[in-house]
Amino acid sequence: MSKKRVLSGMQSSGKLHLGNYLGALENWVEMQKDYDCFYFVADWHALSTNYEDTANLKENVIDIGINWLAAGLKPDTCTMFIQSLIPQHAVLHLLFSMITPIPWLERVPSYKEKMENVSSRDLHTYGFLGYPVLQAADIVLYNAHLVPVGIDQLPHLELTREIVRHFHQIYKKEVFVLPEGKLGEVKKLPGLDGRKMSKSYGNAIFLSDTPQEREHKILRQMVTDPARVRRNDPGNPDVCHVHSFHKVFSDAATCAQLDKDCRSAAIGCVDCKKILVKNLAARMAKFDAERPVWAAQPKKVMEVLHDGTAKARKVAETTLRAAEDAIGISLPDFE
Ligand code: SF4
Repeated sequence: MSKKRVLSGMQSSGKLHLGNYLGALENWVEMQKDYDCFYFVADWHALSTNYEDTANLKENVIDIGINWLAAGLKPDTCTMFIQSLIPQHAVLHLLFSMITPIPWLERVPSYKEKMENVSSRDLHTYGFLGYPVLQAADIVLYNAHLVPVGIDQLPHLELTREIVRHFHQIYKKEVFVLPEGKLGEVKKLPGLDGRKMSKSYGNAIFLSDTPQEREHKILRQMVTDPARVRRNDPGNPDVCHVHSFHKVFSDAATCAQLDKDCRSAAIGCVDCKKILVKNLAARMAKFDAERPVWAAQPKKVMEVLHDGTAKARKVAETTLRAAEDAIGISLPDFE
């Protein structure tokens, strides 16, 4: 029996950080064993919110490729490609935009949330409103059966399914696979200051950071229990971001012991952080060994992405042709 196809992407709006590694990349590496995985660099999506800030876009694409390969994605096992090199995404996006009612887009929760909360950029653009339409095209071009999602992304996927059903209803032909969400445990890692880990907050541990840079950030910048001023003060691990990291990188017995020692002031914050540095280094050891190897060969990384793009483009071409046939706009080839 052929494997089910999975599709997922990562925006190239900034360098990847530890949160991306835990929240998605580790899971991608596992999924490639059981599914026919298509993973793409979503560089057009990066423009939907960062259309003015494009200076590092190309550099970010290569950085993503380096991190994917260092994490263990295998070019002969999964298909890695770059969205903007496959124009079929843009064409299908356009075709879908013809049939997608605007209120469907305006009611997407993340749209409303960002419009209310983001003040640093003007998001009153069609590209930002139409982002989920492009996302729908990304998914169905490859006839993906499954899309890994967190609970908060389910409305996006439901919109994709609505667009697909609407298309099939209007043009009376079942062209696309109706994708399902693959809900998994999404491990969320806060930034060094407890807010969401993000380059723009200056609180991220990047995948491109060396183990020494990572250690420096943890020892110097990671915020502990603010009420624990002196070494002898008992601390509260429930409000400490170091402890949040321990819950991800240290085993249950260590976490329980540190919880106890913190509350009784048996351990100081520097020693507690040093244990974290050690456990994080153990978890990232394979990645840390692989990353410099791939970082030294950007040409090879681009080759992998180009090969994957060529393979993905063929699938996208076939699907788009079927969609155009259903609509009735494809013209016969004239030689
Ligand atoms: S001992 Fe550890 S858990 Fe307790 S406040 Fe210090 S860093 Fe946080």
